[in-house]
Amino acid sequence: MSELREILQKHGFQMKKQFGQNFLTDGNLLDSIVAESGVDETTTVVEIGCGAGTLTRAIASRAKKVYAFEIDVKLQPVLAETLSGLENVEVIFRDFSKIDLKALEREIGEYKVVANLPYYITTPLLTKLLEESDKVQGVSIMVQEEVAERFCAKENTPEYGAITAAIALKGSAKIVKRVSRTMFYPRPNVDSAVVRIDFERGRIAVKNEKAYRQTVKCAFLNRRKTLENNLVNYFSVSRETAKKILSEAGVEEKARGETLSPTRLAILSDVLIDNGIL
Ligand code: SAM
Repeated sequence: MSELREILQKHGFQMKKQFGQNFLTDGNLLDSIVAESGVDETTTVVEIGCGAGTLTRAIASRAKKVYAFEIDVKLQPVLAETLSGLENVEVIFRDFSKIDLKALEREIGEYKVVANLPYYITTPLLTKLLEESDKVQGVSIMVQEEVAERFCAKENTPEYGAITAAIALKGSAKIVKRVSRTMFYPRPNVDSAVVRIDFERGRIAVKNEKAYRQTVKCAFLNRRKTLENNLVNYFSVSRETAKKILSEAGVEEKARGETLSPTRLAILSDVLIDNGIL
């Protein structure tokens, strides 16, 4: 910890809250995060937000190649020092949310994401990977603990929501490590957890992914209302049509959206397509 502080000080680097800069320094923790991610010497890794390069070093020691993205160019002299001598690391000073993912994937092929993400971009970045990526094999990300719970939730729980269903379409998610706030510098106000998502193409059969996303939006439109009500409101269909759709999808008449598993949501989405609603 003091070594990192010294390096940051030496380069006159000031931490920026708006970029979610909370760095990890504990070597054992960093190594175990990478070990849990399933990265090996054949893996290309994309790291989002490499900060002072502590996690980057740990990834580089196990991976074939690391593309480390960082938004804050002021970290350039710090990273030049902390990553010096590592030949399998390429640092790219870009805002990852503005990256053309398809173009990146044409260049680097299949890859895994390993990242200690700033909290404010967790969901948008994950959504980008879920919706746009053809080549991501897995994602291991450190996120706020309660967000991690949401990513891995089961239906019929308060944590289950649209993001859970979106993840489940593409892969299986589990919490592989809980990390106390005391492990970060500076210390954030919340504890964190590492979620690992293993992508499996065609995990849940669905006719159209966009239609599935619309169905999920509809299901969680108003959690307190029945799915029938949400269907009527979201798709402007009659009550009779909504009832018919639910029956064809094997959903109980009074069910709420949050009781439907991702597989059932996929069936509902296909029924909506078959009835010309989506
Ligand atoms: N990986 C380092 C670690 O574990 O110590 C730093 C983690 S820190 C929580 C998040 C990092 O992401 C910061 O260095 C921040 O500047 C960077 N960042 C924030 N928004 C970003 C974006 N849109 N694209 C790329 N990097 C970003």
